Amino acid sequence: SVPLSFFGGIGGASRSGILIKGGNYMETLADAEVAVFDKTGTLTKGTFRVTQTVPQEGVAPETLLEIAALAESGSNHPISQSLRAAWGQQVPPDRVGEIQEIAGRGVQAQVDSRTVLAGNAKLMQQASVTFQDVSLPGTVVHVAADGKYLGYLLISDEVKPNAKEAIAKLKAAGIRRTVMLTGDNRTVAQAVAEQLGVDEVHAELLPGDKVGEVEKLMGQKSGSLVFMGDGINDAPVLARADVGVAMGALGSDAAIEAADIVLMDDDPAKLAAAVRISRRTLRIVR
Ligand code: ADP
Ligand code: MG
Repeated sequence: SVPLSFFGGIGGASRSGILIKGGNYMETLADAEVAVFDKTGTLTKGTFRVTQTVPQEGVAPETLLEIAALAESGSNHPISQSLRAAWGQQVPPDRVGEIQEIAGRGVQAQVDSRTVLAGNAKLMQQASVTFQDVSLPGTVVHVAADGKYLGYLLISDEVKPNAKEAIAKLKAAGIRRTVMLTGDNRTVAQAVAEQLGVDEVHAELLPGDKVGEVEKLMGQKSGSLVFMGDGINDAPVLARADVGVAMGALGSDAAIEAADIVLMDDDPAKLAAAVRISRRTLRIVR
């Protein structure tokens, strides 16, 4: 039977924009020991600015940006949105054909009947594109058309203003281990983790690898594991964690469905609030 106090806890949480799908999740959250985060869109804003456009010789910078923006026109990934914003034009429907998202890597799209790839180094390697990888403080989006490398765009994200405080509050609420998982490159990931005070970071992961990392962490704890993501490509991880928390403002329907707790906005500090409410409801004092 569900104790009456759960309803009070769930109701109180919902007034703070935290939707808890059931009393059992409160119980599990009250017992949280490990907090795992996705990076992009969860701890960082996920709104990137294009800071460098580096075309290959013979390619105009505007062309590079245009091709990337067109290829990304069917994606709702934060990276795509920023490329489209940087280009700033309406997408003529007749220029873009079939679009395929390759989770954790980028996109493949028909642009002006050429096969365009836009994404990370792994995407280029997978397609055997000859290119020079670069290590820069930001996310590099490489672009190729019909197997020919056109250059890259460097985009930089920023941490959310309250992400550092969110991590500190979780630790104060008794979370012993904080871990960040990301498909982004190691340099960027480590810089973000350091800036926020996250204990541990695993980078260059595909969405499937994130499930594997969560499973490993689940084997190394006595309390529960909570995962918080922005809902882009992380539904399987949300489902696998003891408690999956999706940020509703950005999340896909699949993620909201897979999650046990949905935050109405994209404020990471709400997770610490949810832990506190759960502990108070269960009268667990640590
Ligand atoms: P995170 O794990 O930080 O949330 P994702 O798994 O969504 O990031 O993406 C991992 C990496 O894959 C990105 O850093 C980027 O290099 C590449 N990527 C993913 N989607 C796209 C896209 N639509 N366009 C370009 N690159 C992408
Ligand atoms: Mg993400």
